[in-house]
Amino acid sequence: MSRRRQIYEGKAKILYEGPEPGTIIQYFKDDATAFDNKKKGTINGKGVINNRVSEHIFTLLGHIGIPSHFIRRLNMREQLVKQVEIVPIEVIVRNVAAGSLSKRLGIEEGTPLPHTLLEYCYKDDALGDPLVAEEHIACFGWATQEEMQDISAMAIRINDFMAGMFAGIGIKLVDFKLEFGRLFDGDFSRIILADEISPDGCRLWDIETNEKLDKDRFRRDLGGEAEAYQEVARRMGLFPEGGISEVLDLDSERKKRGK
Ligand code: UDP
Repeated sequence: MSRRRQIYEGKAKILYEGPEPGTIIQYFKDDATAFDNKKKGTINGKGVINNRVSEHIFTLLGHIGIPSHFIRRLNMREQLVKQVEIVPIEVIVRNVAAGSLSKRLGIEEGTPLPHTLLEYCYKDDALGDPLVAEEHIACFGWATQEEMQDISAMAIRINDFMAGMFAGIGIKLVDFKLEFGRLFDGDFSRIILADEISPDGCRLWDIETNEKLDKDRFRRDLGGEAEAYQEVARRMGLFPEGGISEVLDLDSERKKRGK
């Protein structure tokens, strides 16, 4: 890792300069945070799983024509992506009421929504990523109206695809967060999907039991978070070669040797 220049360290990932101009390496950590960084911990093997889950989902989305920054996975914890200018908006896609929506509007968690709801939050840790309206986004120039049209259309297509994919493996896609970026080509730029899609940024409930299979296990001190991430990966059919535990054992061995 030290051979590369670090560009940025976030809560769950480290970004390194990529091998060619215009590329970046995303390194997935096991670190977990919640409630604006007030709760901190680690989820064993999370980085390995999120790298794989995100690779899988971005690849499938590519097949249905959703452009993304993903180029290829490099190893257990790293993937090569295109460098983009991140749009400072978190797009929250909701199918079922949960989390901040339930709290804000007093709607019981688990209530199905009559149609998919898109919400936008301004990406600013110091402000706690406040909810904003499209008018704020246009007013403060965070994204143009054209860009927001592309973003919302892509978010709906991504949700349709992912909700179906997860339903097929007995998982309810309650809500999730997306981030987009601008890919520049000379003076022009286009919007592509960026960041990651993993159980860190999705609410995933077992369809039969409503058991939580995502970061809420960590946020709400439910325990079993590492097992929940593994269960999602297992149902997705990832890690076919020797199973997840073998891959995670190899990863912890490498970590020990590296440190
Ligand atoms: N989310 C996220 N990062 C954030 C905020 C939300 O990944 O900074 C995801 C979260 O995991 C959930 C969805 O977006 O799947 C909706 O989150 P919500 O607004 O309910 O906030 P929370 O309850 O997580 O504070």
